[in-house]
Parts: sequence; structure tokens; C-alpha cells
Amino acid sequence: MLQRVFQIICLLIFILGISCQVTSHQVKLYPVKEASELGISLKPKNLVEIQVVKVADWEASLSGLLDLDDPKAKLAGLKDRMEPISIYFYLIKHPNFGTFMIDSGIGESFTKSPDGFLVNSVLASQMHLDQLKIYETTKSYLSKNKINLKGVFFTHLHFDHVLGAHEIDRSVPFYVGPGEVTSKQFINLFVQGSTDRLLGENPNLFQLDFGKDKTQISVLDFFGDQSFYVFSVPGHTPGSLAFFIPGKPNSHLILGDSSHTRWGWLEGVTPGSFTTDRNLNRESLNFLKKLEELNKPRFVYPGHQERISNLEK
Ligand SMILES: [Zn+2]
Repeated sequence: MLQRVFQIICLLIFILGISCQVTSHQVKLYPVKEASELGISLKPKNLVEIQVVKVADWEASLSGLLDLDDPKAKLAGLKDRMEPISIYFYLIKHPNFGTFMIDSGIGESFTKSPDGFLVNSVLASQMHLDQLKIYETTKSYLSKNKINLKGVFFTHLHFDHVLGAHEIDRSVPFYVGPGEVTSKQFINLFVQGSTDRLLGENPNLFQLDFGKDKTQISVLDFFGDQSFYVFSVPGHTPGSLAFFIPGKPNSHLILGDSSHTRWGWLEGVTPGSFTTDRNLNRESLNFLKKLEELNKPRFVYPGHQERISNLEK
């Protein structure tokens, strides 16, 4: 009976076309004055260091991670099943501007209560939290390594990327891509409350504003010294971000969830049902592939599986 009522409410909401933002927290626009041409320099004035931290192992459905209708997926005989994945955050250390984080790891509350008070119970039941094996929590990692964060970039605001955000000092700026907060979607009716709690009270939230069509791919030389490029790659979510870090001998391309898996990246197959706009995700994935071809990064980091070295190919 309850289920029936819930279905009717959902249908009514759908018919009425109600939608909302992914979070109700206030967001400030962070104007990007000169979004440079899409070409990037491989001779940065400064070098940033990158460190990858695996915070958890987990699993997710392959049909969410990969478009199983893609001819390549069909040819490979891929069928829906649970796929092992991991959750990472990245530390970006700039010699002048200090340490920044990409994504936010996982907060302590998830080790104490697996269903977590921060995520509502319906969502928690969909998340296979019983399969989540946590190795590091955000606050304890930052304090034991004496890291004084200067900012956090979110590849996007899906749960698995904001699970540690509430543990980060409220003064630290949180940067998200164009339209990530201000876009309205029906699905957000069900996730907004949990996303609000995961981001914590009064987050210092900035949405990068490239000032043009939000569906366009854009680039920002964030520190202004060619050391760290932020790409707006819409599709997986409206404001998905990817990152390129030039350097010798190693350069790095961080994909976020524009490609979750190693296989998806190597074969050029887009994510499946976890992606909001598959056509835009396809364009962004094609762009990132081109970026790899032109700039030959030493390591490419899919959103949820181990990095791929260019020596593997
Ligand atoms: Zn993800």
C-alpha cells in the first residue's frame, strides 16, 4: 500500500515537472576571466605534485558504470553484474599556493554506522553500503599528515564524491563545475537533502563560471602558471570536471566519472545509467581521448578504478 502511494506521489511530481538543484546550499559564481584556448602548455612555469589516495573498495552495477548497449560492450559479451570499484581522492601540491584536494574521500560517520545518518535510508539501500570497505577517512588523513587544505575541487557532486566534505574546515573553498549546482533535475528531489548533509553546514561553495554555454567543453589554467588545468566536461553531470597536470617525466590526466572504469577508457565506451546526458558524456569522452592523444600523459585516472600507465599500451 505504502509503495503504491509512493509511486503515485512520484508520478504526480513527474507530471508536474517539479525539479530542483542537487544542493540547496548557497553557491557563489567564480568568474573565469580568460578561459584559454583548449590547447595546453606542456612547459609549466611551476610543477605541482600529485598524490592519489585510495580511501575505499566498493562495488557497483556494470550497467551503471558502462553503456552495455555500446557495440564494443556487446562484442565483448559484457552483461550486467556487480563490478569492483574504488573511491579515491587526489592531493595537488603547488609550490606557492599550497595543497588542494580533488574530491573529498569518506567521513568518519560511515565507519561507525554503515547506513550513515547523512544519507537517507532509501538511497542508502541502493548504495550497497555493506560492500564498502573503508581504508582512510578524510579528517583523520588530513590531520595525521598535517595537511592545511587551500581548496577542494569536486569532479562532480554525486554522493560517492562528497562523502567526506562535511569533515573539511568550513573556510576551505569548494569548487564545482559550471551548472553543477544551479542546474535543476527531477532526480535531485530525492538526493538534495542527503547532498546538503554530506556537504555540511554552510559550505564555502563556488561554481566555476566560464560565462558561456554550459554544455560547452572549457578549460581553466587555475593557478595561471600552466601547472594545473581544470576542464569542464559536461555530460556525466552538468558540471563534471576533469584535470590535466603537465610535468616531466610524469604528466597526469584525471577523468572523474566521465569514464568510471579502465575498460571504458581503453575502449572509449561511455558510462551507462549513472550518467545524466549520454550524448554530452560521449562528446566529453571523445574530447578527453583527443587530449590524451595530443599530450600523451604518463598516467590516466578513471573515476573508480586504478590508473592506466601509457607503458601498458
Ligand atoms: Zn563516482
